[in-house]
Amino acid sequence: MTDRPGPYGPNRRGLLASAGALLAGGAASGLPGAAGSAGGAAPAQAPGRGAAVIRRGDPRYASLLRGDNFRFAGDPDEIRVAATTEDVVRAVTEALRSGRRIAPRSGGHCFEDFTADPGVRLLLDLSPMDAVGYDPERRAFAVRPGATLGRVYRALFTGWGVTVPAGACPEVGAGGHFAGGGYGPLSRRYGSVVDHLHGVEVVVADRADRARTVVATREPDDPHRDLWWAHTGGGGGNFGVVTRYWLRSPDATGDDPSRLLPPSPRELKGYQAVWAWDERMTEQAFTTLLRNFGTWHERHSEPGSPYAGLYAILSVARRGGGPITMFVQADAAVPDLDRMVAELVSAVGAGTGVEPAVDHRTVPWLHALTWPGAGAAGDMFSRRYKLKAAYLRRSYTDAQLTTAYSWLTDGAAVSHGGLLFVGYGGQVNAVAPGATATAQRDAVMKVVYQTVWTDEREDAANLAWVRGFYRAMYADTGGVPVPGEVSDGSYINYPDADLADPAWNRSGVPWHTLYYKDGYPRLQAVKARWDPYGLFRHTLSVEPRPAP
Ligand SMILES: Cc1cc2nc3c(=O)[nH]c(=O)nc-3n(C[C@H](O)[C@H](O)[C@H](O)COP(=O)(O)OP(=O)(O)OC[C@H]3O[C@@H](n4cnc5c(N)ncnc54)[C@H](O)[C@@H]3O)c2cc1C
Repeated sequence: MTDRPGPYGPNRRGLLASAGALLAGGAASGLPGAAGSAGGAAPAQAPGRGAAVIRRGDPRYASLLRGDNFRFAGDPDEIRVAATTEDVVRAVTEALRSGRRIAPRSGGHCFEDFTADPGVRLLLDLSPMDAVGYDPERRAFAVRPGATLGRVYRALFTGWGVTVPAGACPEVGAGGHFAGGGYGPLSRRYGSVVDHLHGVEVVVADRADRARTVVATREPDDPHRDLWWAHTGGGGGNFGVVTRYWLRSPDATGDDPSRLLPPSPRELKGYQAVWAWDERMTEQAFTTLLRNFGTWHERHSEPGSPYAGLYAILSVARRGGGPITMFVQADAAVPDLDRMVAELVSAVGAGTGVEPAVDHRTVPWLHALTWPGAGAAGDMFSRRYKLKAAYLRRSYTDAQLTTAYSWLTDGAAVSHGGLLFVGYGGQVNAVAPGATATAQRDAVMKVVYQTVWTDEREDAANLAWVRGFYRAMYADTGGVPVPGEVSDGSYINYPDADLADPAWNRSGVPWHTLYYKDGYPRLQAVKARWDPYGLFRHTLSVEPRPAP
């Protein structure tokens, strides 16, 4: 496989970290059984095992300031490392009483500075809260927010042979990922992870003097159902601190855990088709290739399509930065898989006159989980990145294809810039737009504009390039992907603060419409109910709905 650094570049380290003992019980590990119910106050308990309060001067302080993107380092008065829900209640209560802004951090993979903003005085590190287990009382799998996706997959697979259609990077945390509507290689087949979200336990700050724990589920008669709904794509850092997610597929019956979530594939088959980015890749060949990838997705992204088992990513580096590679992943047991992938490869290459080099391999499911994520938070010494994104309902327009060619072949001093088209749709589009807070339910791809670098001195050039590229791609709609025939706004788990900046968003369409479409007023109502003091906020946080 090609080796390209960056959040979505294939991983050279083959890691699957923190896959230790997963299924042990006990209060410190935070497994279910003691799930808090609505109205619980901060009990006077000792901090959980692994909890800590870290202040400036402590040797641990500097190491914990950054998440995955080294562009941002916070400056909090305190870093609270929480090990239990009670630790979180205590920290949020103190933030309320002292009027200090608090930000929870789980996996630290936020694209923006939401947990590292200088205004954040109390950083709440939830990484020790990483248990994954089965909760017989709720007939659902309980996942703590600090669990990385790698840990979630491994625990679900090892214990019960089930899985969730979440993201591909094993180091992303459940905490932010689930709340933002995470998706990944199995989403075309099984939907978004939030389509399997049964409930949440959230520490909320809806009273002036103390935080409390609330459980909210999708059950129609649950009085807190709005809080569950807000966590099906409303995005992290908005409504409180999630201390537990419960997962169970909506159509699951009975109490056999191995039937309550989608079955885990036994093996995963990965294919790659590589087109050299050389003189044969003319503008005509390039635009044809990208258009073909989009057209294939327009035709094969209906829910239930036999092709919904195929997850394809087209990775287009800037010319000189590597080849153009299409990765395809699928459960190796999907009937007729080789034929469907051969058809896809041939459809994408049709009319380009350039033959790809095609390769494939089959690996046991757990071994496949390392692809295509990046490494642990803060590795590569100082990885810096800026990503911008959009949903696509269909292939780019001809004008956009020409623009893409020109920006990917210019002479800018940017070494690891590029585009990623990620297959979407399928079962995701079987869910009604308002049923969850993930409003985009007829897109067929996501596209990511990315640039990754390591040296702070290259910040300006990289930021200017990716911002300029994006603005040019959406020149007809004020520089942003306004919902329309081709685009459908963007994805809150790929947050881009520029969308709220009038210098970059000249569309007249507010950032929140781009992310949430019609769902925003509903999110505002949830915010007003559960975080009336606005304790949880960041550059793209939901504003409480103004009083009528
Ligand atoms: C390398 C990489 C690969 C990725 N791959 C995918 C992918 O395949 N699919 C996909 O859908 N997305 C992907 N993403 C995006 C990812 O889903 C988001 O960045 C996600 O928000 C990260 O969650 P986190 O807990 O790791 O991040 P954090 O930085 O810890 O949190 C992100 C946001 O959520 C808030 N938050 C964190 N924990 C909680 C909590 N417990 N309660 C309330 N709010 C909380 C934070 O305050 C912050 O605002 C990827 C990102 C990266 C960097």
